[in-house]
Amino acid sequence: MSGELEAAGAIAEGALWARASEPHAGDAAHARHGKCLNCGTVLTGPHCHQCG
Ligand SMILES: [Zn+2]
Repeated sequence: MSGELEAAGAIAEGALWARASEPHAGDAAHARHGKCLNCGTVLTGPHCHQCG
């Protein structure tokens, strides 16, 4: 019985990891377009005016 609970827990954990990694990847892709990956400043041009 405890083995079943452990298996269910492992599945739930895997689902959490899958859900957690997806939005994170989306944020990284979004940041690449709107914010500097180095300092997080919103980009107003092709180069970050904070980092230079
Ligand atoms: Zn920057």
